[in-house]
Amino acid sequence: MTKEEEVALPDWVGAREFYDKYDPKEILGRGVSSVVRRCVDKQTSQEYAVKIIDITPSDKMSPQEIEEIRAATVKEIDILRKVCGQDNIIQLKDCYESKAFYFLVFDLMKRGELFDYLTEKVTLSEKETRKIMRALLEVVQFLHSQNIVHRDLKPENILLDDHMNIKLTDFGFSVQIGPGQTLKEVCGTPVYLAPEIIECSMDSGHDGYGAAVDIWSSGVIMYTLLAGSPPFWHRKQMLMLRMILAGKYDFTSPEWEDRSDTVKDLISRMLVVSPKQRYTATEVLNHPFFSQYVVAEVRQFSPYRRFKVICMTVLATMRIYCNYRRAKPVTKEVIQSDPYAVKPIRKLIDACAFKIYGHWVKKGQTQNRAALFENTPKAILLSLMAEGDEPTQTIC
Ligand code: ADP
Ligand code: MG
Repeated sequence: MTKEEEVALPDWVGAREFYDKYDPKEILGRGVSSVVRRCVDKQTSQEYAVKIIDITPSDKMSPQEIEEIRAATVKEIDILRKVCGQDNIIQLKDCYESKAFYFLVFDLMKRGELFDYLTEKVTLSEKETRKIMRALLEVVQFLHSQNIVHRDLKPENILLDDHMNIKLTDFGFSVQIGPGQTLKEVCGTPVYLAPEIIECSMDSGHDGYGAAVDIWSSGVIMYTLLAGSPPFWHRKQMLMLRMILAGKYDFTSPEWEDRSDTVKDLISRMLVVSPKQRYTATEVLNHPFFSQYVVAEVRQFSPYRRFKVICMTVLATMRIYCNYRRAKPVTKEVIQSDPYAVKPIRKLIDACAFKIYGHWVKKGQTQNRAALFENTPKAILLSLMAEGDEPTQTIC
């Protein structure tokens, strides 16, 4: 750490300070060189998550590797501070450094990863996908406006808060680039890798890649949320990378049968092999899929859904027809002889009976609420006696 960094980060005073302030608890997640644990502030009892990055010299890691992890952590902290205060980005609360460990304290996301939520739900609806992807793309739009490329967008790095809002985390591969600068490092997670990153690994003379890699990964995430499985996948990683390079994916699995053409159109504009032709975050957010108002969507129903709709239509038609056949014409005679048989009048009688009795009255063998409407005192008296009420009770 340089002198300037020490001045800029005066709270890096070592592991003891972390353990004095927090109580580390169970493991929430693990990375290559980090462990994330729940921790509790001893004074306030507030819960947090701490990412503990191990930089202990050992046989498993060369001094050069340790130095790389240290440099990457310093960069991660720097970016986390730059994006501080943004909605939908995890907040770094505290940060401590000792000779052997870094401790990064974050807000605790009790609902865990989007990955686990998807595993539980299998697939998400277009509505839920829209909410998640809008928040994610707004974050990506902000990052790209600051020339920050995340480079590791995936459902494991998207956490959910108590209200199911997303929080982007893991800025371990993030980098801020200068204007016109391109990147050549191969990093990320294979399933979500953009073709130009793979090309970089194969061709040392490649021009490099830029922020568009995040849009590709977002497209892979969006596809995965709706289909329950990623667009590019093969048991053999080499074949999977070839599929990515060729942009070979389809919407043929049954999950896509009920999805709108609008959402498929958007995905196909994100999963474009050429980064120059690929949509930017702003273009993605301006796509009709994210329009506030519901766009008339062309829906292609699966044969099963079509069969279900036909059955429901036939049943509804039969019910309407039978009710129509059963219905008697409402004549003056019917109203006079049996007003209770006519539904709207029955409702009126019941409402009036409620007003008179102060509670709903049961309709039994001997009861005749319709008698309440006969204009003879005898009928009213009989009706009241049948209900079991005292005739002396006030009735109006
Ligand atoms: P790595 O760089 O090692 O992948 P991450 O920052 O992605 O580390 O954290 C690893 C895992 O730990 C996450 O995928 C998630 O399951 C869990 N995790 C990280 N931060 C939090 C948090 N703030 N709240 C809850 N769980 C978290
Ligand atoms: Mg991670």
